[in-house]
Amino acid sequence: MNVNEFPFSSNPSVPVVTVELADFQAAGVRLDLLRLDRVHPMISGNKWFKLKYAFEAVLRSDCQRVLSFGGAWSNHIHALAFAGRERGVETIAVIRGDEPVKLSDTLQDAQRWGMSLEFVSRAQYRNKYDEVFLQSLRARYGEFHLLPEGGSGEWVVAGCREILSLCDIADYDLVCCACGTGGTLAGLIAGKPKGLAVLGVPVLKGGDFLYQDIRNILFRAGVDDPGGWELDLEGHEGGYAKITPALALSMRYFFEATGVELEPVYTGKAFLALQRKLSAGELAWGSRVLLIHTGGMQGLRGMQETLSKRLSQSRESS
Ligand SMILES: *Cc1c(COP(=O)(O)O)cnc(C)c1O
Repeated sequence: MNVNEFPFSSNPSVPVVTVELADFQAAGVRLDLLRLDRVHPMISGNKWFKLKYAFEAVLRSDCQRVLSFGGAWSNHIHALAFAGRERGVETIAVIRGDEPVKLSDTLQDAQRWGMSLEFVSRAQYRNKYDEVFLQSLRARYGEFHLLPEGGSGEWVVAGCREILSLCDIADYDLVCCACGTGGTLAGLIAGKPKGLAVLGVPVLKGGDFLYQDIRNILFRAGVDDPGGWELDLEGHEGGYAKITPALALSMRYFFEATGVELEPVYTGKAFLALQRKLSAGELAWGSRVLLIHTGGMQGLRGMQETLSKRLSQSRESS
């Protein structure tokens, strides 16, 4: 078996590609893409690195059962289900919203890989860490390791800092990555060389709480915040999983020029944020930028229709 396919035994090697885009080249900015989307066919992108040490701890313990949380198209749930199957760990997912007549493609995969799905109302989901609720789950499934929504916690720092060792990180001035919980960014911050700036693009509206969340993750991982990082709070395009015509157009532009697909929930927003920085003159001539393709292409299956609609809207208005 290819090392890329046996989860967590060793890190995969992935390509770094130079992105040849006219607007970046005209501004003298080198843009490279670290293709974590190529880490593993199922445990995609940053989720490999987020799950790596969580799994190590589970495998070392005497409880081989993990419970986590997510939405119907969650990349985290998808990756967790597959990793669980491969490593012989039982997985349970609490899914936001009542059970649909037809499962999303993501959840069909997860179920096929042996994950148990527990659908809860949105109200219950908001109280998902409530002790009474968790007790009812323990009564039903037995003892489990609880992996928070998105899989983040201090263990992701050790995993995600390893992302930077997949490329010659000293070659860059800026690294850019989309943020959900900010766990991945915390790892990049922990592992970065001194002179490297880190830009996180929260995909949720009102993402400024992430400054504190990221500091908390670093603190609990025992890492001093080295500074030199910031969040672009304007890159969310209206909120989580919202797609604007500008986002659809930017993703299409990227695909046509590079042949590499992005998805609109995370990676598309990170690229659009860089494009906007470029046109605002905020990327200096001669600077070298690394964009992290954090993967998540399986989630695209749920977004194709909206995406094409927004793309035609962007064409009508141009
Ligand atoms: C989960 C995910 C992220 C966000 O990672 P966090 O560690 O929660 O910030 C970014 N990109 C993709 C493709 C993801 O699936």
